[in-house]
Parts: sequence; C-alpha cells; structure tokens
Amino acid sequence: MGHEKDAFPSRTAPTNLLALDEEGMGRFVQQFGWPRYRAGQILRWLYQRRAKDINQMTDLGQAERTALASLATIPRAAGCTVFRSIDHTRKLVLMLNDGLTVETVLIPDEDRLTLCVSTQVGCTLDCGFCLTGTMGLKRNLKPHEVMEQVLTAHDRLDPGERITNLVFMGMGEPLANMETLSEAIRRLTNKPWGLGWSPRRITVSTAGLAARLKDIAPLGVNLAISLNATTDAQRASLMPAVNGIASLKTLLAACRRYPLPPTRRLTFEYVLLAGVNDHVDDARRLTKLVRGIACKINLIPFNEFPGSPFLRPSKSDISAFQAIVRQAGLDVFVRKSRGRDVLGACGQLGNLSPEYVERALTQIESRC
Ligand code: SF4
Repeated sequence: MGHEKDAFPSRTAPTNLLALDEEGMGRFVQQFGWPRYRAGQILRWLYQRRAKDINQMTDLGQAERTALASLATIPRAAGCTVFRSIDHTRKLVLMLNDGLTVETVLIPDEDRLTLCVSTQVGCTLDCGFCLTGTMGLKRNLKPHEVMEQVLTAHDRLDPGERITNLVFMGMGEPLANMETLSEAIRRLTNKPWGLGWSPRRITVSTAGLAARLKDIAPLGVNLAISLNATTDAQRASLMPAVNGIASLKTLLAACRRYPLPPTRRLTFEYVLLAGVNDHVDDARRLTKLVRGIACKINLIPFNEFPGSPFLRPSKSDISAFQAIVRQAGLDVFVRKSRGRDVLGACGQLGNLSPEYVERALTQIESRC
C-alpha cells in the first residue's frame, strides 16, 4: 500500500506519520537522506511509545527532529469523550479530523480486558438489531484511524491495566474494509516496531461476507461469524443486506472451506431476540447448521437501544436455548452484556443525538 491517500507530503499539508505504513515510512525517511533504520525508530515511537510529538523522539538528534517536524506531524484524534459504565466498561467516542465520530469500547471481564474497535463510520449493512446499521455508511476508516482507537484506549487505561484481547466488532463490517483491516492487523502484530501482539489475541467478526472469509485466514487471527438466524427467511428479515449477498447455505459452505489450523475454532455469534429467533426450534436448527464445523457458539442476549423493535429474552429462555445447543455437544457461551448503560454493548454503537447521549448516559468520565 505504501501510504494512505492523505499521507502525501505536499507544500501545504504536513505528512501524517501515522498514515504511513512501513514501506511508506521507508520512502519518507529517504527524502532526508537518512538510513533505512530511521524508519523503524520513528515507527517504534509511534506505536510502542505512543509519541504524540516529534520532539519526544530522543534517539533522533535535534537537527533530525527539526527536519522531521518541518514536514510531518502526528495528528491524533481531534477529541475524545470517555463514558464509564457502572460495570467499568468504557466507551470512547473519538472525534475524527473531518468531524465524524467513531466509537471504541474497553470491556473488562475477570482477568481479560478486551478492546472492541470500529472499522467504518456507520455501516453499509442494515442488521435490524444494530444501532450502527441505522446510520448508513458515512465512510470507511483508514488504518491510522483504527490504530488511533487502539492508541487512545492504551492512553486511557487505568493503572496496572493491560489490553488482553482485541475484537474488530465495533461499528462497521470489517470485511467491507479489507485493506484497512489488513494493515491495522499488520501494525498490531508487527514485533520489531508495532504493538507485537499475537494474532491469536485478535478476533475479526463478520456479518457474513462469505466470499471474503478466505482473505482472513492468512492474517492468522480468529474469525467470528454473526449468524443470528437459522433459516434464510429469518436471516433475510433480520440481516437483509448481507443475506442478499450470501445465503446461509453459501455462508456455511464458506465456513466449512475455511482453512482452520488444527487447534483453532470458528466462533458463531447469535444475537438472541425475544420471540424472534430464540425458540426451541431455532436452537435445534442451529445445532444442525454448524454440524461438522470446529466451532463454538456465543449467544448474545439483545441489548436494547432507543427505537429498536426488539426485546431481550428472559433469563429462562436464554438458558433453555443454551441447554439445547449444549446437549448437541457444542461449546456454547452466553456473552455477558457489558456497558449497556453507556450504550457501549454489542449492537449499541452509533450516533445518537448529543442531547440523548447527555440524558441517557450515567457518567461522562472525561473529555479531551
Ligand atoms: S451488526 Fe455489524 S454488519 Fe450489521 S449493521 Fe451492525 S455494524 Fe453493520
């Protein structure tokens, strides 16, 4: 890729260092006549030390820092508002440089701290149970805007906290923005200068773009598929856009072909909607659909948001559904809902009016 479109050095706009990938950074340092290893030094400052100012790069001489600062900047998000849930989930709303906002969520759970990041502002898909889907697609995020979510979340960790897992499960369909997704994963997993994460700590979740599943395998990350229905009619009513692109049969065939390493499993996510897809028959059909696929199933009781037509099932209905799936020999878990009071739970990310947000949210932790 080399660089993102807005990374071109020009007479008027300084180069955004975060918008350069490794190759682009290599070419950028060449114009100063510097050796190639300078690129690695700068990248380490950006990702491993989260530098916000070129002057922090103290392994570059003063003259080099001045030269770099004359052509480049490290523009981080224009603003960030943090909402803290009573369960300590934190929703970060980042203001992008064009005024759009994107959301990312830090989710603590026992010894894990998961970061849920977004890949698009809004979404082209229109899953009926998802607030983001009601926004339509504003635009794809660029790799540096995905990394901005990660870096800002790191900056905001409480003392002693460490992000243990990262899920591409925020706003947007990650597989509809593959170039950005791949480059962000490269920066997250690169050991010499990136964050050095194991790909096993990263999960990409798709609504079911079957033809693109194969592009995830080479990235080495975990793959989750948002299933949510057990018949095409049901899926077409809940997820019309994606079911129009790939039917259940096509999607499950792509899952069966997916080249899973021996010790890995796919994850199927299933949002439970009261009276819609939480019947005994749904549970039975679900077990048949995934038969023969190395997988686990995450049940996600619906998280309500203003204006949504769906309701969350009762605890007993959730348990009954889980029991049927478990009896079929499948590993099935009920996802704990975190951050519902700050609209940070699954399916609750999206642009509500500022007035609504001010009214509804329990606690604004900070603004910057
Ligand atoms: S569930 Fe995911 S794919 Fe569906 S509308 Fe929401 S963000 Fe888009």
